Amino acid sequence: MTVRMRTGQAAPGIDAAAAGGTVARDMAFLAPDAVAAALAVDPATGLDPGEVRARAARWGPNALRARPPVPAWRRLLAQFADPLVLLLIVAAAVSAGLWLREAAAEGQSGLPFESLAILAIVLLNAAIGTIQEARAAQAVAALRRMSAARARVIRNGTRQEIPAAELVPGDVIRIEEGDAIPADARLVRASALLTNEAALTGESVPVPKGAHPEDALPKDALPKDALPKDALPKDALPKDALLLDRRAGGETDPAEPRTMVFSGTTVSAGLGLAIVTATGMRTELGRIAGLLEETTDEVTPLQTELARLGRRLGLAVLAIAGVLAVTIVLADHIRTLPALLDTLILAVALAVAAVPEGLPAIVTAALSLGMLRMARRRAIVRHLAAVETLGSADVIASDKTGTLTRNVMTVRTVVTASGRSTPGGPPAGPDGPLRSELRQALLAGALANDAVLQEREGGVAIQGDPTEGALLVAARTAGLGAEARRFVRLAEIPFSSERRRMSTLLRETGGPSCLVAVKGAPDVVLARSSRERVGGRDRPLTPERRDAILAANAALAGDGLRTLGLAHRAVPEGEATAPDDRIEQDLVFLGLAGMSDPPRPEAREAVARARAAGIRSVMITGDHPRTAAAIAAELGIASDGTALTGAQIDAMAPGALDEAVRRVSVYARVAPAHKLQIVRALQRNGLVVAMTGDGVNDAPALKAAEIGIAMGVTGTDVSREAADIVLADDNFATIVAAVEEGRAIFANIRKVLRYLLSSNLGEVATMALGVVLAPLLGLAAGPGEVVLPLLATQILWINFVTDGAPALALAVDPVDPAVMKRPPRPRGEGVLTGAMAWSLSFIGIVTAACSLFVFDACLPGGLVAGSGTLAYAQTMTFTTLVLCQLFNVFNARSAEASAADGLFKNRWLWGSIVLSLLLQVAVVYTPVLQQGFSTVALSPGDWLFCAGVASAVLVLEELRKAVARARRSAAPGA
Ligand code: ATP
Repeated sequence: MTVRMRTGQAAPGIDAAAAGGTVARDMAFLAPDAVAAALAVDPATGLDPGEVRARAARWGPNALRARPPVPAWRRLLAQFADPLVLLLIVAAAVSAGLWLREAAAEGQSGLPFESLAILAIVLLNAAIGTIQEARAAQAVAALRRMSAARARVIRNGTRQEIPAAELVPGDVIRIEEGDAIPADARLVRASALLTNEAALTGESVPVPKGAHPEDALPKDALPKDALPKDALPKDALPKDALLLDRRAGGETDPAEPRTMVFSGTTVSAGLGLAIVTATGMRTELGRIAGLLEETTDEVTPLQTELARLGRRLGLAVLAIAGVLAVTIVLADHIRTLPALLDTLILAVALAVAAVPEGLPAIVTAALSLGMLRMARRRAIVRHLAAVETLGSADVIASDKTGTLTRNVMTVRTVVTASGRSTPGGPPAGPDGPLRSELRQALLAGALANDAVLQEREGGVAIQGDPTEGALLVAARTAGLGAEARRFVRLAEIPFSSERRRMSTLLRETGGPSCLVAVKGAPDVVLARSSRERVGGRDRPLTPERRDAILAANAALAGDGLRTLGLAHRAVPEGEATAPDDRIEQDLVFLGLAGMSDPPRPEAREAVARARAAGIRSVMITGDHPRTAAAIAAELGIASDGTALTGAQIDAMAPGALDEAVRRVSVYARVAPAHKLQIVRALQRNGLVVAMTGDGVNDAPALKAAEIGIAMGVTGTDVSREAADIVLADDNFATIVAAVEEGRAIFANIRKVLRYLLSSNLGEVATMALGVVLAPLLGLAAGPGEVVLPLLATQILWINFVTDGAPALALAVDPVDPAVMKRPPRPRGEGVLTGAMAWSLSFIGIVTAACSLFVFDACLPGGLVAGSGTLAYAQTMTFTTLVLCQLFNVFNARSAEASAADGLFKNRWLWGSIVLSLLLQVAVVYTPVLQQGFSTVALSPGDWLFCAGVASAVLVLEELRKAVARARRSAAPGA
């Protein structure tokens, strides 16, 4: 694709430039200075607040247009899309029509209360469904806002981090390895910058970028005289414009601007400073067919499984309802249209009530409310599916720095040729050489550095990498601030986890030559050094000295310190060209810095909690094996003092890693590629892996892991994009908290399922057995008459009262601490297990038995003779069934534990029960509802009788659980 910028309309500076008569049509082909001038900004200081406000007012937020939300009325209408519901409405309407015709013929007045009650309940149900869905949607939207992109800008002379949406044209942005580029921008500085433009072009080959077109290309691919300057209209270019042509290298379009970076693409390596040329919908990304922000709803495996379950249940219920209707019609000799219609309504009402149609919305609500709860515990879930998988995690493989440790670095020791010293403290040993070596080493550390110290009240704050910040602080404490400022940076080669080092090329003001300052992993820096600094002199590095330095390094690491090697080299001015690996050779080794990074106090406890929950914690780090082992021992991850290194993994025979990952819990000196190998090996052992990562190259491992976890504070945008979960505080303990929440959410979904399915089964069984056992119960109906335990309206009411509020309340049941005492849920275990199916069938049958017993006892004849009317018996049965379901709420809270455990923990549950009871009282005593639902008033004794019988649902299930618990503790190995 040709990504050609025409920023004329996009940037106000261009307007200004045009008004001033300058031709500035295409940012890509201007020199950096001209770009800055055209956009009216100084790249060193950025825009000032007033200018930002003005530009924001003019150009609006830097955001893609979102798809308009679905209006509430359409969501409400969608609730009626269920064919069963439609059938019910049509049947109720026809029935009402017939009633009205008959009433008119017979000269009666009044209203078809039954049909109206049905319609009212269907409407109410739809309204509740809409509200449940809206609540779930709100929760999802809140999570989206939390994971909004951020951008690093220079404004008003200082570096800041702002929400990417607040960027304006002319803003100066800093982009680094792993960043998602927040807007279209023109580079004014770049070092070793490569971007991945797959989002725009579909090609994921890294594209070299530069402030000047020729920087961005391999030198030999750009024969200057081969540039077809006439590829563009001459007047389109200012005289000093630099023209970029990849066609000169062979394949692509002449206008492809290597000097531009584009919104939506990412930085694969290097860093750059750029001026924003276009924001929001005016970026290339925004322009691609007026792209709208995607808000597709994600469907998780659990939701798919539940939808499948719902469909199967629906079919089963339909079949039962059909058989029931046919039986009634045949047994009761039903022939008239109104009676047939009544039977149809009854069957459909039963089907509507028995299908847990609220389940998808309740599950979405449980998932998204659970996600909000996780977010409060600082784990932001990007994919709903991760919530489910979290509960199955067997291994948490975590980075060390910042996740298990605090990432608050302090330089404790510097080891130079003449000995050890403590920055800030009195130098040990003879003052002379040691002091000068320390100063040289710390100076190199401060110069090969991208962090910034900002004065704050009560001290300094570090902006940038804490490792680098610690070196700056140490240099400052040693009084090297002024000396460091004498050096002007010409170029740099940034740090990456693969290179494990960083270098800068500097010119000393007034000095004779240039300097290369290098810091990095000690073995890497030492391998590139040929001499070492001793006092004021450089001496060749002998093999003995190399061994001694490596031994000193191992000793520092053994104390749990993170170590860095420091080196420099003077370069004659003429040789100070753009840096590549070659300048990092023949270095003078200056010393080792040992930094402490204390373990997070909460991490140790989190490791123990994870272990109790059957989850193994594994540490993976780029640091020295000894540092890793020392910290791992402190945290309780492993105590054998060993670590498997990346080099050892490389040397392993195929298959050996699969065996090793079973016992090794500490990995050191690993590159991101090893992380992927470790994940895969763990997975081949059948384990579900949660893996953390922060760098751009961690993305493959994050994607491969079942649960990829990125760092919200120090992580790159690329890693966050690849992850399922982002930790807002980069903290290991947060992962364990998220696992707990994930398990709790899954447990709650099971509670809802247990409740809804057992309750609905109770309703269906009551009706089906009521028909089958009619002779036994003494239900002698006249021909053409339907006598059943419950009426259609009553069934719908039960569904409305009990499926709504109590089910939702179960979905938000508080976390039960016991979830972290159990092993992970086996992978592939369905949401509905065999044991659950048994227990809910048991409850369903008990419910039906209770209701039918009450029905029989209230009517003359049958097994238990009573003396009530049919309306009375139906009201009693109706009330018993409702009470059974309310008792059943307590059953559903746990598969094994007694309902008495944590009985009062969920106030929503109690609220929903009180609400349901009040509604039942209303339907029994209010005249209008009595007419609609054919109920009669009950006496307090009646209520007590119903409640007494209904409590059997709770008592019998408690007994069943007690037996199950006793069996389990008696089982061998328990
Ligand atoms: P983790 O994976 O636990 O975050 P890490 O952050 O220690 O580990 P890397 O960042 O890959 O892993 O660092 C590997 C090594 O590179 C460190 O031990 C250190 O010696 C060196 N190093 C780290 N940061 C820098 C830096 N900014 N500049 C130069 N060298 C560095």
